[in-house]
Parts: sequence; structure tokens; C-alpha cells
Amino acid sequence: MSTKGNEKHVKVLVLGSGPAGLSAALYAARAELSPVVLTGMQLGGQAALTHSIENYPGFPKGVGGAELGDLFQKQAEHFGAKVEFDTAHEVDFSQRPFTVTTDSGEYKADTLIVSTGASSIHLNVPGEVEMTGRGVSYCATCDGWFFKDKKVVVVGGGDSALEEALFITRYASSVTIIHRREEFRAGAILQKRAKEHPKIKFVLSTVITEVVTGDKLEILKLKNVKTGEQSTFETDGLFIFIGHSPNTEMFKGKLEMSDLGYIKVNDKMETNIPGVYVAGEAADPHFRQVITSAGMGAAAAIQATRFLEAEE
Ligand code: NAP
Repeated sequence: MSTKGNEKHVKVLVLGSGPAGLSAALYAARAELSPVVLTGMQLGGQAALTHSIENYPGFPKGVGGAELGDLFQKQAEHFGAKVEFDTAHEVDFSQRPFTVTTDSGEYKADTLIVSTGASSIHLNVPGEVEMTGRGVSYCATCDGWFFKDKKVVVVGGGDSALEEALFITRYASSVTIIHRREEFRAGAILQKRAKEHPKIKFVLSTVITEVVTGDKLEILKLKNVKTGEQSTFETDGLFIFIGHSPNTEMFKGKLEMSDLGYIKVNDKMETNIPGVYVAGEAADPHFRQVITSAGMGAAAAIQATRFLEAEE
């Protein structure tokens, strides 16, 4: 990295420090490109908020999400990557090097690897925003502890909902999974574990229509989608795991993306702008696994390396 005033010039700038970003940094560092990673708001990405990751190869007994992120970071740094606690706000792709404006100033980047990941989707029901932090949460690893011996509701029917519901049973006296259908999207192993767990109950074909506001969470309003019957449900906590949307707002109008905001890449992780690559959930509505994001990060860095080599 070369510095001129408040402007830093790098060959490879990586936005985001999840599995995709840190894997890209590892590969770019080993290609001696001295990559800089801007961590974004969440060091380690969403994976760092996961209590235990059991499907990343090499860890037969599973590994903590934060611990895995820390190992990724150490390995990338070992080979020369620099990890900065900084967040990008604006990008200018009109000329190379690209300009990236961050909290701390400005970067000029010969190539950019976007690995900004995705964020939790909200239910968008009355009371949800007001009660966030007062009983409503999107992160079991962060907030599960606050619900020791309390009644908790988890909403969603995917892997996240069931996995996090199982995690919350460590603390809560009971966990009720409210899901809008009868069938679950989650994998068979998680479904079996959740169904067999003595603390977990299910309320199916039901949606939450309102989170009743107050000093603390006490009541949810529900509706059975089959019968239309409305009811109330007493709970101390509500954990919402109904999927994710990509963190790609900054690239709207600049990179081609799908209607849902996933950036379009080809099989080489290339975008419509030569020298700009995307890896991980910012471009992946299908797999969203630590291993697939890490693989995309490696591929993006290999391609960025080839691009820079071709220019020399
Ligand atoms: P997901 O698979 O998209 O599931 C979202 C769930 O929320 C679905 O059951 C959906 O219901 C429900 N939902 C969506 N919008 C809703 C709304 N407005 N109101 C009520 N319910 C709503 O999301 P995810 O569970 O976060 O998983 C995302 C990806 O990460 C998946 O590919 C998953 O396999 C992966 N993941 C894997 C693991 C693992 O391998 N251990 C762990 C976590 C996540 P419907 O089913 O009716 O659509």
C-alpha cells in the first residue's frame, strides 16, 4: 500500500471480513499483492455471530464462528494482508484506479473484491422496530444469554431458525418456533434435532402480525394463515431468522444486479466492471455457506491476480 495525504493506493482492496473477504485476502496475499481488507461493521461477517459451525471441513467437532473468523484473519495476515477496522460508503468506478470512500478517508484500488455479505431480513410488523433490543433480536449468539430461564419465540423455518432455536435452549426455559407453513426449509438433521428437543415447541401455519410495544416484550399477536383465527402469545423474547438480503446498496446503478439486489457475476466472479469482483452472499442467493463463500473469495482473488498480471 502506498500513501499520499489521506489517500491510500492498493492493488487489491477487499470490502468485508467474512469468510469470502478473508479467503480472498489470503489468496491475494499469497500472490504478494499486499491486499487491504476493510472489515465493515461486523468483523468476521455473519459467520462470526454463529455459535458453532459444524459443516466447515477440517473441524470434526465444529468450530465457533468467531474463532473460525479469527483463524481466517490470522492466516491472511500471516501472508501479508492488512485488516483495517474501516467501512466503505461510496465507490467510484468511472476510472481506474477505483475510488472507495470510507470512514477514515479514501482508497484508490487497482482491483476491488466486494464481499459485503448480507443482513437479516426484518418481519416488518408493527412494534418490531420499537421492541428491538427490548426483547426482539436477530442474533442468538449475541443476546441468547439475556433470556436465561425465560420463554422465547423463534420465527422462521430455515436452517438459521432451527439452528439458533437449538442454541437458545441452552438458556431459555422454552423455545417456541413459529413458522408460516407446515413444512420446514431447514435440513433433515436440524429438523430431527429440533423436533426431538424437549424444550422446543412448534406453532405452525402461523404468522406474527404485531409485536405489542411496552417497556419489555410480553405479547405477540398471531394469525393462523389457514383458519384466519387471531390469537395472542406470551413471550419474553422474539428471535427473527427469516432470511437475509445482500448488502449491496452502495453498488446500485454501478454494478449489474438482480431484482433482489444480488450482484451479477460470471463463473470467474467478474462483474460488468473489469477489475471488480464479488464473492460470498453479496452475489449468492443460493448456497450461503461458509465454505461456498470462502471458495468464491479464493476464486475472486485468483482472477484479480490474473487481471493485474495481464496488465503488467
Ligand atoms: P432461508 O433458508 O431463506 O429461510 C427463511 C425462512 O423464513 C423460511 O422458512 C421462510 O418461510 C421464512 N420466512 C421468510 N420470510 C418470512 C416472513 N415475512 N414471515 C415469516 N416467515 C418468513 O434463510 P436462513 O434460514 O437464514 O438460511 C439462509 C441460507 O443459509 C440457507 O441457504 C441455509 O441453508 C444457509 N444456512 C445454513 C446453515 C447450516 O448449514 N448449518 C445454517 C444457517 C443458514 P418459507 O419456508 O415459508 O419460505
